[in-house]
Amino acid sequence: MTRVAVLAGGVGAARFLDGLVRVIPPADVTAIVNVGDDMEWAGLHISPDLDTVTYTLADLVNPETGWGLRGESRRTLDRLSELGGPDWFMIGDLDLATHLYRTDRLSAGDPLSEITRDLTARLGLECVITPVTDDRLRTVVGTDQGELAFQDYFVRRRASDPVHALRFDGAETARPAPIVKHALAEADVIVVAPSNPFLSIDPLLSVRGVREQVTSNRAKVVAVSPIIGGQAVKGPAADILQSLGHDVSALGVARLYEDLAKVFVLDETDAALADVIAAETGMRVVVMPTLMTDVEAKMALARGTLEAALDVA
Ligand code: GDP
Ligand code: CA
Repeated sequence: MTRVAVLAGGVGAARFLDGLVRVIPPADVTAIVNVGDDMEWAGLHISPDLDTVTYTLADLVNPETGWGLRGESRRTLDRLSELGGPDWFMIGDLDLATHLYRTDRLSAGDPLSEITRDLTARLGLECVITPVTDDRLRTVVGTDQGELAFQDYFVRRRASDPVHALRFDGAETARPAPIVKHALAEADVIVVAPSNPFLSIDPLLSVRGVREQVTSNRAKVVAVSPIIGGQAVKGPAADILQSLGHDVSALGVARLYEDLAKVFVLDETDAALADVIAAETGMRVVVMPTLMTDVEAKMALARGTLEAALDVA
């Protein structure tokens, strides 16, 4: 039995997890998910990364976007727009049910991790999905426009502003959700998913004790590069590497992870960087295809990543 804990953002992590739960028993997988993107929208609590991971693993996700539900409609959103309400964040009619359920239970005082557990159980998922914290954590993005709330930056302004700084509001006091410590301690392998290092992984690590626990387990940590050929597969990871003064490449990502991980999974496109990454960071670099285009590719990446982490040679 190989127990695996995955530090997860949204779409990139969800694709990786979708492969992982097909190559080992789902019950051996714990996804520890970013909540720095969470927000209040029209009075509802939205947890975009938790929902992306959950919908993907439940095979409900919209394949075109990688988030949201398949077969979604937007009648409520259109009506809200007619009423002059907030219409810049896509909340579909079916998706709305998740947010109503979650918000209702949060208002009753239930922790986000319990609500997530119940939602995932309802959907028949056997893996564990937990928010990294039940406490409030919000990514704040420093731009030329000043500080922006995460979804203002990401959705409203379409991630078009150069990012000069990031901070995670609430990180000083946020405590790991109940099973996070246990999952990291018990894991045979900890995977840093191919997620955005700044917007998905860093907020997770900012929660009290999480970075320390991952670092002290470095021997079992493997990180998968979200950057292929100097570009993000989607989203602003490459732009942020650039604007924060890092090398815009898998080497730039590897430098961010060198204290955290023992093994670095590099895409075959970037094979020429393997030696320099190994020499500079001290990580063991394993080269394989990392583009998760279909189920087979996802499974191969999951298998390859676990083998790389467990291979003690
Ligand atoms: P978000 O919260 O939905 O933005 O999702 P994540 O942070 O989990 O994922 C975004 C990151 O995933 C981006 O930096 C992408 O480059 C990366 N990503 C998406 N698909 C793939 C893929 O197929 N392979 C690799 N290596 N990275 C991917
Ligand atoms: Ca996200």
